[in-house]
Amino acid sequence: MTSNATDERERAAARLRGAGLKVTESRLAVFDAFHAGEHLDADDVHTRVAELLPTTSRQAVYGVLGALTDAGLLRRIEPAGSPALYETRTGDNHHHLVCTSCGKVFDVGCVVGEAACLTPSETHGFRIATAEVTFWGLCPECSASGALS
Ligand SMILES: [Zn+2]
Ligand SMILES: [Zn+2]
Repeated sequence: MTSNATDERERAAARLRGAGLKVTESRLAVFDAFHAGEHLDADDVHTRVAELLPTTSRQAVYGVLGALTDAGLLRRIEPAGSPALYETRTGDNHHHLVCTSCGKVFDVGCVVGEAACLTPSETHGFRIATAEVTFWGLCPECSASGALS
């Protein structure tokens, strides 16, 4: 193992401890499966984790994803018609662009300033905590290749 990989593992272990979670092989492997900017579904994560820990079941991966999401280390998004996706960029309420043709997901920062995205024109008395905006359209590659929708 290179020293870089060891550093990464240490950082991941520190994040787990910081969130009050016990550090386990499977939690480290799941957290490690994510690279910056990626949005992975449980199957993607399971495929990557299984390369390191071949005996890890899909069910176990689901359990770890849930625990990491509850602890605030992962964010879960559910674009319509797609399985739940997880990512390591949490806490900033960012939005998503989803390609209707290939399903690629991109992060977008707030469109009209941080506060505005939490201020709908009508709150119906709710105290708003988070907002989730999904923009649908065609990614550049799909546009270029002439996909229709
Ligand atoms: Zn696309
Ligand atoms: Zn995202």
